Amino acid sequence: MAADDLHLASAARLRASGQRYTSNRRAVVDVLAGADRPLTIPELLARRSLAQSSVYRNLAVLEDSGVVHRVTSTDEFARFELAEDLTEHHHHHLICSTCGAVADFTVSDGLEDALARTMANVAATGFRPEHHRLDLVGRCAACA
Ligand SMILES: [Zn+2]
Ligand SMILES: [Zn+2]
Ligand SMILES: [Zn+2]
Repeated sequence: MAADDLHLASAARLRASGQRYTSNRRAVVDVLAGADRPLTIPELLARRSLAQSSVYRNLAVLEDSGVVHRVTSTDEFARFELAEDLTEHHHHHLICSTCGAVADFTVSDGLEDALARTMANVAATGFRPEHHRLDLVGRCAACA
């Protein structure tokens, strides 16, 4: 998604939640858009000098509005990335069970097709699948 479209879509989601797209919120979206993996708050602050307290608050608002998605890992740090339905970049995560590092990765079309068929089959049970998550957990290159 082009940066302008991303900011327009982010502003629309915030507006729908009764929130404003302030310059600080826009800065957070900018940093996350430029990252190739979910970022912790310290990592986010290392890339853009913003007040730490405002980043906490703004991430909570962005998450509530569906702009940002919180990724849970194996350590105590929350990580944040742009919502997948906003970026239109469907992907999965590699999670390090030693240091908690999270990397984005994509799987083959064949596996995505198999997951889509599985979701369609599950609908027969009465459960209505909307999307899927698939994390691979192991040790990152630095920890292996
Ligand atoms: Zn690691
Ligand atoms: Zn991701
Ligand atoms: Zn998938």
